[in-house]
Amino acid sequence: MSENSPSVARDASRSPYYVGVDLGGTSVKVGVVDDLGCPLSHLSIPTESAAGPEAAVERMGRAVRDAIVDAGLTGADISRVGLGSPGTMDIPAGKLIAPVNLKGWDGFPIRERLAHHCGLDVSFANDGAAAAYGEFWVGSGRLFHSMVLLTLGTGIGGGIIIGDLSIDGENSHGAECGHIIINDADDARMCNCGRRGHLEAYASATAVIRRTRETLEAGRASSLSARLDAGAKLTPKLVAKEAAVGDALSLEIVDQTARYLGVGITTLMHTIDPGCVLLGGAMTFGGKDSELGRRFLAEIKAEVGRRAFPLLAERITLDFASLGPDAGFIGAAGIARLEHRRKASG
Ligand SMILES: [Zn+2]
Repeated sequence: MSENSPSVARDASRSPYYVGVDLGGTSVKVGVVDDLGCPLSHLSIPTESAAGPEAAVERMGRAVRDAIVDAGLTGADISRVGLGSPGTMDIPAGKLIAPVNLKGWDGFPIRERLAHHCGLDVSFANDGAAAAYGEFWVGSGRLFHSMVLLTLGTGIGGGIIIGDLSIDGENSHGAECGHIIINDADDARMCNCGRRGHLEAYASATAVIRRTRETLEAGRASSLSARLDAGAKLTPKLVAKEAAVGDALSLEIVDQTARYLGVGITTLMHTIDPGCVLLGGAMTFGGKDSELGRRFLAEIKAEVGRRAFPLLAERITLDFASLGPDAGFIGAAGIARLEHRRKASG
């Protein structure tokens, strides 16, 4: 079942061990992680959410056991399992409330059911918080005491870590960074959540596609038109590709997206004053390895420079996340590790 070779050999790893589970709408990533945050094994299975939550957690339990075997360990070697799940959720109760990407899973007691199927204690976290904790523990945030992660994809997810604490909120709705307000006008863009003016309605992948389409329909010339006429699908990747070869409209879309993010990030900086703000998820316009990605980051910084307190704008570190799609399961394991240590120290 395993797709990947272990990242660290069993003999070089440090006990105790944890399993991280990153539940998404289409796939579930599961991996064994050691006490230093190094993965020993990881694998991915389809969520098959339409078959219902009980069938899915049963397969997730099997995947946890497979990942443990792949790592050369047994269940007795595992101190705890961490589960990161999309919201909405009730974290203390270990239940989903009404997850948008898991239709029909409303009210499911997922923490207890996964614990039953894998035979191990489970810690429960929001997927954004888990990814943020992964970056904080061993990724781009590891040198900072506090950080914010924004994951740019279909929506904008987020996580806020201060010290070793994930900001989950009184009602498990903390760190909803995609839903901070950047436009209070009555005709502000409608967010995926059904309210207007939120950051996600302007700077998510969905928003980038919508804004690009609107500009093209308004008659702006762009090399995108020929690509779309030839059958290409309008995606942020296509916009990035055309921007990288100098298409003015595509560049404008990327720059404008950066400015919207700069506005949202300034609000987060004035609220939290974190050591760093990281950008992750599928839409990073090439990230730090591409000229366009570096320009995207520079535009965000410039907007922050125009809007934030000068001292904060000068000191903030804005960077890309570094763990990619592994952040979720590594961070979920990290959150399990925190709970294990908390319980062990009494
Ligand atoms: Zn919203």
